[in-house]
Amino acid sequence: MLQVKNLHASVEGEAILRGINLEIKPGEVHAIMGPNGSGKSTLASVIAGNEDYEVTEGDIIFEKANISELSADERAHKGIFLSFQYPVEIPGVSVTNFIKTSINQIRKARGQEDMPANEMLKKIREKAALLEMDRKFLSRSLNEGFSGGEKKRNEIFQMAMLEPKLAVLDETDSGLDIDALRVVSNGVNKLKSDENATLVITHYQRLLDYIVPDVVHVLIDGRIVKTGDKDLAKVLEEKGYDWIKEELAQQA
Ligand code: ADP
Ligand code: MG
Ligand code: MG
Repeated sequence: MLQVKNLHASVEGEAILRGINLEIKPGEVHAIMGPNGSGKSTLASVIAGNEDYEVTEGDIIFEKANISELSADERAHKGIFLSFQYPVEIPGVSVTNFIKTSINQIRKARGQEDMPANEMLKKIREKAALLEMDRKFLSRSLNEGFSGGEKKRNEIFQMAMLEPKLAVLDETDSGLDIDALRVVSNGVNKLKSDENATLVITHYQRLLDYIVPDVVHVLIDGRIVKTGDKDLAKVLEEKGYDWIKEELAQQA
């Protein structure tokens, strides 16, 4: 589904990603872990097509097409979803209206008619129930006065509604109390299928107790330096990242 090949990216002339290789197949959940500042959010942004970052080398292939030159909107239309670490507030636009507009924009870009209102309503109810969301919440202004947990829940709601092929979740766990973490993770797990894939980016192992990854990658200084299964996340939780840095230093 997704192939990242020798990806190098810079921001303001400084190299952040320095040769990332990554392959995600349909049905898989991959986790990217790494210390603060290692380039995790940069990788998420570059996959999603954020133009603040300059790709200096390498390619991103999505469903066999090279998407390296596509805009963020075009990638979203193809089914790539990025959750936002710091979601925007849009006063006066409700959670429901925002998602209706987003869905119909994507449909329009794909040459489809607007989703019929009754179908939209049904889907909103179904997904809100899946994520144990309050009715009242749906009519609130987008992100205005939302708690950290509410912002995250809203992100996952957007994801549930948009049904992306590839969901990139950046630090979805930050700001979540344990109950909200469980609800959000359950939502992500319930949305999993053989046809979609998830890339979970997290600094902490905690989230991976709930969203169990098939593959765990460690990102340090803009490179994937280690890849393993879910047990690697447990080792990282116990031992931190220094032992990997030492291993790398010895190899050098
Ligand atoms: P992580 O998500 O792993 O904590 P980031 O990808 O956010 O790491 O950041 C990696 C490095 O790139 C950091 O040194 C950060 O300061 C820098 N960086 C990221 N985005 C920007 C930006 N928009 N402008 C300037 N520096 C940035
Ligand atoms: Mg960071
Ligand atoms: Mg980050």
